[in-house]
Amino acid sequence: MDTKHLGINSKLIHAGYKADATGSVNVPIYQTSTFAFRNAAHGAALFAGEEDGFIYTRIGNPTIRALEDSVAELENGCGGIATSSGMGAVCTVYLALLESGTHMVSTASVYGPSRGLMEKDFSRFGVQSTYVDTSDVIQVEKALRSNTKVVYLETPANPTMQVTDIEQVSALAHAHGCLVVVDNTFASPYLQRPLDLGADVVLHSVTKFINGHADVVGGIIVAKDADIYKRLRKTMINSGCNMDPHQAFLVLRGLKTLGVRIERAQQSAIQIARWLETQPEVKAVRYIGLESHPQHELCKRQMSGFGSMISFELEGGMEAGQRLMDHVRVATLAVSLGGVETLIEHPASMTHASISPEDRRLAGYSDGLVRYSVGLEDVNDLIADLRQALDAVADAPDQESAVDLEENLATVGS
Ligand SMILES: *Cc1c(COP(=O)(O)O)cnc(C)c1O
Repeated sequence: MDTKHLGINSKLIHAGYKADATGSVNVPIYQTSTFAFRNAAHGAALFAGEEDGFIYTRIGNPTIRALEDSVAELENGCGGIATSSGMGAVCTVYLALLESGTHMVSTASVYGPSRGLMEKDFSRFGVQSTYVDTSDVIQVEKALRSNTKVVYLETPANPTMQVTDIEQVSALAHAHGCLVVVDNTFASPYLQRPLDLGADVVLHSVTKFINGHADVVGGIIVAKDADIYKRLRKTMINSGCNMDPHQAFLVLRGLKTLGVRIERAQQSAIQIARWLETQPEVKAVRYIGLESHPQHELCKRQMSGFGSMISFELEGGMEAGQRLMDHVRVATLAVSLGGVETLIEHPASMTHASISPEDRRLAGYSDGLVRYSVGLEDVNDLIADLRQALDAVADAPDQESAVDLEENLATVGS
C-alpha cells in the first residue's frame, strides 16, 4: 500500500509493510543468516546492485527492511539503516561522516556515551569535538571551525530538557558547509521530524519510545539524501552493527502503538508536572509542556506534542535524590525511558555520575535532579506514589521503621 498520503497514525500501522504470498498480516521474522540465489547470474546481479533482493542478513533482511522503510517514511527520509543499538547508530554516523582532522560541534548535555565515544575513542583517530549549549545558536556559531563537518544535536536533551532550534541551527550549519545530525530519541518521529526542519540525518535509540516495551535494545538512522544514506549503510554493513530479524520484528510491533502510547503518556506527564510544581520539596520542574519551560514556545513550533520526559530538582540535593529513588513503589528505579512502565532515575549518582559535579553545575542542573519517564499506569497512582516518596524524603534521614514502609505501600496500593 502507498502510505505517503496517510496520517501519522496510519503510517505507524502500515508504512514499510509489503504483503507476502501467505497474506500474513504481520511481517514474518526471516530468521536466516543468508539467502539462496536462483543461479549465478542472480547472485552476480544482487552483488552488482543491479537487482533488488537479499544476500546476507548483515547487509539486509526483509524483516529489518520493513522497519527501516517504516521509520524512513515516518521521518520523511530517503532510507533507514537499523542498527544493533542506539550507540551502534551513533557510532555509524561518526564513522561515516567524520575523518581524521575534522571537527564536530555537539550539544553539551548529549547522551553520555555519545560524548564518551567521541572524546575517548574518535579523538584517538584525530577527530576533534567541541560541546556547547546548542539551545543558544550564538554558542554554536562561535564553536564552528573551518574543519567542522558535523553539527550533532540532541533535542530535547537529557537530563536538562534543553531544546535546540533545529531549523535555525541547520541554516547556520549549512551556511558553513556542515551536515546536521539530530538524535531524535526523546521526541520520536511522532512528535518531531528533524529532516523536515533542515537536518540531514536523524537517529534513534529505538530501545526507548519507538519500541516502547523495554524488551529490545536497538537503533536506527534515517538520511534525507541518497548519497549520505548509501555512505551510512556501507559503514553499518562493514562495521557489523546490524540489527537482527527478531529485534526488528519486536520493534515493528512496538512502533504500531507509538502514537497512542505517546498521547496517553503525555496527558499524564502534564498533570504530573503541574502537580510537582506545587510540591514544597520540589525546587524546579523541567517539562517542555509547562509554560515555565524557557523553550516552551519553540517546542510548540518544532514539535507536535511535549512527550513524557520530566526532570525535577529536589530541594535536598544528592541525598534527597537518592532517598526518593529508594521510596518509589509504582515507578521502577531503572535507567532507560520511553517504555510503558514509568521509570525513575537519579542522574547525579547514576547516568551522569561520571560527569564532575562542576560540569553538572555548568550544564545547569543540581545533584537533586530526578529524571522521570512517564509510562502508561494510572496517573493518580503515579502521583500518589511520588507523594508518599516525597514524604519519605522530607522525614528525618535516619532509618524509618518497617511500619512506615507498610503504610506507604498501603496508600499507593503497589
Ligand atoms: C539510550 C540513548 C542512546 C543510546 O541507545 P542504546 O539503544 O542504549 O544504545 C542514545 N541517545 C539517547 C538520547 C538515548 O536516550
